[in-house]
Amino acid sequence: MKIYSLTVGIDIDATLTEPYYWLPWTNAHFGLNQKPEDITSYDLAESLGITEEEYRQFYDQYGEAIHEFSPVRKEAPDILQRLALNHQLYYVTARHPKMKQVTKNWLDRHDIPGEGLHLLGSHNKVEKAQELECDLFVEDRYENARAIAETGVDVLLMDCTYNRGLEMLPNMKRVENWHQVQDVIHFMEINGVKSLHRIIA
Ligand SMILES: [Mg+2]
Repeated sequence: MKIYSLTVGIDIDATLTEPYYWLPWTNAHFGLNQKPEDITSYDLAESLGITEEEYRQFYDQYGEAIHEFSPVRKEAPDILQRLALNHQLYYVTARHPKMKQVTKNWLDRHDIPGEGLHLLGSHNKVEKAQELECDLFVEDRYENARAIAETGVDVLLMDCTYNRGLEMLPNMKRVENWHQVQDVIHFMEINGVKSLHRIIA
C-alpha cells in the first residue's frame, strides 16, 4: 500500500516535449524565420501571423509527424520513472483523440510511465482534472493552468515565452524544468502535505 501518494495530471505539448520543437516545421512551411522568443502567444496562428484556416491545414498535413518526432524534455523520463514509484501519473492533452496512437507510441518510446492517457480534443481540462481527482497538475498553457487552479487543484506552470507576466494564483507555481517539478513533489512528500500553496506561500 502506498502511504503517501499524489495524483498528478500532466500535459504533454511543451510540458513533456520541448516547447518550441515545431518551429522548424512552421518556419519551413510558411517561409518564416521565427525563434522561441518570437512566440509570445499560445495561439499559434496569432504568433505566426497566419489565419486559423492556414494553421488548421498545416496541422492536418503535418500534425501526426510533428508529434511523432517531437523531442522529449531530456530530464523528464528518468524523473517520471522515479515519481511513478509513489505517485499516480495521468497524461491529459488537448490533442485530438485521433492522435492517440502516435501519442501512446511516443510515451512508450521515451519510457514514460503512467496510469492513463486522455486526449480531450479541447483545451478544457478542468473536468478531467476533477474526474481523476488530481492533487497537482503540470501545464504550460496559462489559461488551462489558471482554470484548473481556480477549482482548487494545485498547478505547476511550466515556464515558456508565452506564459510569462501573467497573474499567478496562490496555488500556482512557475517551474522551469522537471527537476523543479521533482523538487516540489519531494518537498510535499517531506512535509506530508497534498496542498502546494501551504509550502510556497
Ligand atoms: Mg501544453
